Amino acid sequence: MSGDAPLRADYVIVGAGSAGCVMANRLSEDPDVSVCLLEAGGHDRSLTIRMPAALGVNTAGGRHNWGFQTTPQTHLDNRSIYTPRGKGLGGSSSINGLVFVRGHANDYDRWETEGATGWNFQNVLPYFKKLENWHGPASDHRGTSGPVHVTTRPADNPLDRAFLAAGPQAGYATTDDINGRTQEGFGYFDTNIHNGERQRASAAYLHPVTPRTNLSVKTNAAVTRVLFEGERAVGVEFVSGGRTYELRANREVILCAGAIKTPQLLMLSGVGDPKHLAEHNIPVIHDLPGVGQNLQDHLEIHLHYKAPATAALNREMLPHRLAKNLTQWFMSRTGPATSNGCTVGAFLKTDDKATHPDAQIHFFPVYLQGWIPKPRPHGFRLGIGTLRATSVGTIKLNDGNPASSPKIDPNYLATEQDRTDLRRCVEMAREIVAQAAFDGVRFEELDPGQSVQTSQDIDAYIRKEAGTAYHVSSRAGWVQMILLLRTRIPECVA
Ligand SMILES: Cc1cc2nc3c(=O)[nH]c(=O)nc-3n(C[C@H](O)[C@H](O)[C@H](O)COP(=O)(O)OP(=O)(O)OC[C@H]3O[C@@H](n4cnc5c(N)ncnc54)[C@H](O)[C@@H]3O)c2cc1C
Repeated sequence: MSGDAPLRADYVIVGAGSAGCVMANRLSEDPDVSVCLLEAGGHDRSLTIRMPAALGVNTAGGRHNWGFQTTPQTHLDNRSIYTPRGKGLGGSSSINGLVFVRGHANDYDRWETEGATGWNFQNVLPYFKKLENWHGPASDHRGTSGPVHVTTRPADNPLDRAFLAAGPQAGYATTDDINGRTQEGFGYFDTNIHNGERQRASAAYLHPVTPRTNLSVKTNAAVTRVLFEGERAVGVEFVSGGRTYELRANREVILCAGAIKTPQLLMLSGVGDPKHLAEHNIPVIHDLPGVGQNLQDHLEIHLHYKAPATAALNREMLPHRLAKNLTQWFMSRTGPATSNGCTVGAFLKTDDKATHPDAQIHFFPVYLQGWIPKPRPHGFRLGIGTLRATSVGTIKLNDGNPASSPKIDPNYLATEQDRTDLRRCVEMAREIVAQAAFDGVRFEELDPGQSVQTSQDIDAYIRKEAGTAYHVSSRAGWVQMILLLRTRIPECVA
């Protein structure tokens, strides 16, 4: 520790991602309280953050991304799955896919039946409305005065239009508002793009309140542990510029470090399963075996098709067009670089027995290598995956070093149901692309390709190619984020 006297704030918030930015904004509305927000990463001003079409750059790696890897996944040919998470102001909202989707109403109602009292859809709807500034037609399901701008863009190319038309041809419904009364069906995605730029959480919740003197935001400040007096959280220790500091909380310590780093930080601080903590010689402050349990994520699998050069957006990457598109964005924040590439999509049921959609399609009128579009081949992608995967995994410590990655094991496809549902997703995607609406704009299937036909072939393709849909979460993590460490650790964290 440095010899400096400890710093102090009423509320200490760890992590300036989607959750942390909201907490910092709302708590500092009261001028009589002081709030300090600590963020391990840096600023959010990079052009690759602000330009929607550049999202693949930060998804692939770099300083705005923690770039985690999972443990080898038994049901994915023992592959370690690359797991990006945002690092810096805005957190993952500064590197994410920009698609704005609420959960389905039934899922919130289910949360309540599973014990999250008060979290039914009717109760959460006012908060969804409060957060958004929806630019679409008036609706009693949408808000128009919140800080988060939500926009759609027209399906202005033949591939997006073919996709929208193929849905009804394949027997599926359409929806005129995926975040409205009816989520199920084919429709336009909403995005967090405003005035041609990414609306990350920091732009919506931090930038506008910069003048508040009771809010201090510290970047490049990595919290290494929560400090306790007995069982009471009283502050945090953090490292910045090679020095170690203590920051004391008069009222609360609020952990918003995300679904991966929050449980790691808790365990490093002595909150977790005593047996696991003992493996790393960490003294137990609070015996809470639920920390790091119930990790959940879902997978997505990509299908690619060749398409005419005049239809696919790969042509926008030709050097002369790329130069024009970048110039246009720099000059006026207009043109193709204002798009995240995913204007339309669908929420579908893999099975008639499902009460509400359990599969999602992201449609991209462009062939992508990873997330990077290249000038060739000309094509399009369907990213399809399930929404209520049943496999459950864990976050554990690799070691006692806060700078290390924890051991992330989502245990993907551990259940037969998850394997069946994802196989069905591939079949559904192919049925949709086979519709007449795609005639003339759909050429050969590139991935998985015509050689992949039987259930065994599809399963093998999934094992070889499926990746995270980037929504790692956990029931314990969720409760931790909201309730964490007021004065004593709540029992319900487990
Ligand atoms: C590549 C990608 C694509 C996605 N696409 C979409 C999408 O299109 N639509 C959608 O709705 N969701 C998407 N998501 C998910 C969404 O962005 C996240 O669910 C959401 O941002 C999580 O918010 P959070 O506050 O829990 O965590 P985060 O936003 O990840 O914030 C956690 C913050 O804590 C900081 N932190 C961590 N440890 C420490 C520490 N020890 N000290 C200080 N700071 C720390 C991190 O640097 C980070 O800034 C995507 C995510 C990713 C990664």
